[in-house]
Amino acid sequence: MDLREALSRGEFSLHYQPLISLDNGEISGFEALLRWTHPDRGDIPPGDFIGIAEETGLIGPIGRFVLERACRDAAGWPGDLKIAVNLSPAQFRSYDILASVVHALDVSGLSPSRLDLEITESLLMDKSEAALSTLRALRHLGVGISMDDFGTGYSSLSYLRAFPFTKIKIDKSFIKDLHSSPDSQAIVRAIVSLGNNLGMRVIAEGIENPDDLAFLMEAGCGEGQGYLFSVPKPLKDIAGLIAGAPATRAAG
Ligand code: C2E
Ligand code: MG
Ligand code: MG
Ligand code: MG
Repeated sequence: MDLREALSRGEFSLHYQPLISLDNGEISGFEALLRWTHPDRGDIPPGDFIGIAEETGLIGPIGRFVLERACRDAAGWPGDLKIAVNLSPAQFRSYDILASVVHALDVSGLSPSRLDLEITESLLMDKSEAALSTLRALRHLGVGISMDDFGTGYSSLSYLRAFPFTKIKIDKSFIKDLHSSPDSQAIVRAIVSLGNNLGMRVIAEGIENPDDLAFLMEAGCGEGQGYLFSVPKPLKDIAGLIAGAPATRAAG
């Protein structure tokens, strides 16, 4: 019931986490991450309410809010900085996601080439023709499509061939184990070279320490994201990040 009221009460906001280009240490864009500030309970993480939003159909209006807010905010950033927006499978089933994306680009004036949509493998498991044709239509708009959390769930290499991805995001569980697990190191190396050879950008999420960054750079990973560079921040802090990029300097 609280979730139903949250949108009209203005309790949702977006935080933005920088995506770092590993060849030059510069910010290439930001991922939009939804935050709910409950009047009594305080901050509730997305993992605790996205599922409920999906079950109740509230993901429709919430998802439209996220897309529009993120595109409007990103339109005010300089240069060609990108904005990545998460979409859950329910957003493909319950309403016309293509129309929502077109609308968000329209009202914000953001160039489609600056928008990346992050989806997870669970969308593809349905093997629905509808999902595939929607993804193709989004690509035709000029929007990028990233496979989020790659390596978890039911990874199938055939998805990479069947769907028009422009980027692979290596799940943070592999990065977390990098220093202790030769298996994770082998898997990460393999994903990086697979993505690079397929002509996709490869980004590692959850980078928390310099050793992991060094490993990823040596493996040829193009981009990184994680607390080492910056935690997700509210919009008001983004201009400072872009101007001074103090978070990226920490990475050398
Ligand atoms: P995700 O898309 O894989 O986002 C990355 C998550 O990793 C974020 O958690 C981020 O805060 C966290 N993270 C970033 N760097 C690090 C790090 O160095 N270490 C660790 N341990 N974690 C790091 P968050 O914000 O709690 O979001 C969780 C998930 O909720 C997201 O995972 C995404 O699947 C979902 N989500 C967030 N915002 C939205 C949204 O607007 N719409 C939809 N449909 N889902 C969303
Ligand atoms: Mg994501
Ligand atoms: Mg992820
Ligand atoms: Mg995730």
